[in-house]
Amino acid sequence: MLRSSTKAELLKKYVTLGPRNTATVQSQSSDRIYHINGDDCECPDNQERKNYCKHLQARDLKQLEEFTKAEAEASVILEKMEVN
Ligand SMILES: [Zn+2]
Repeated sequence: MLRSSTKAELLKKYVTLGPRNTATVQSQSSDRIYHINGDDCECPDNQERKNYCKHLQARDLKQLEEFTKAEAEASVILEKMEVN
């Protein structure tokens, strides 16, 4: 079954965030897993060409998404507290 995945689903599936800006990102085209630490990724694109590679981009997107989600949850909790 083929269907297009949303960006959020891809991030959820391939990116695992760790502590202090670390993350693991699974390659979409192979079983390879890239470890990210800060601005360093293990892939050739980053190691050899010093690019802001797609793994770093995915990590940053996921962090942003988690942050946005946490902020939204916090505001819901705050609203409930004000009601009570
Ligand atoms: Zn990379």
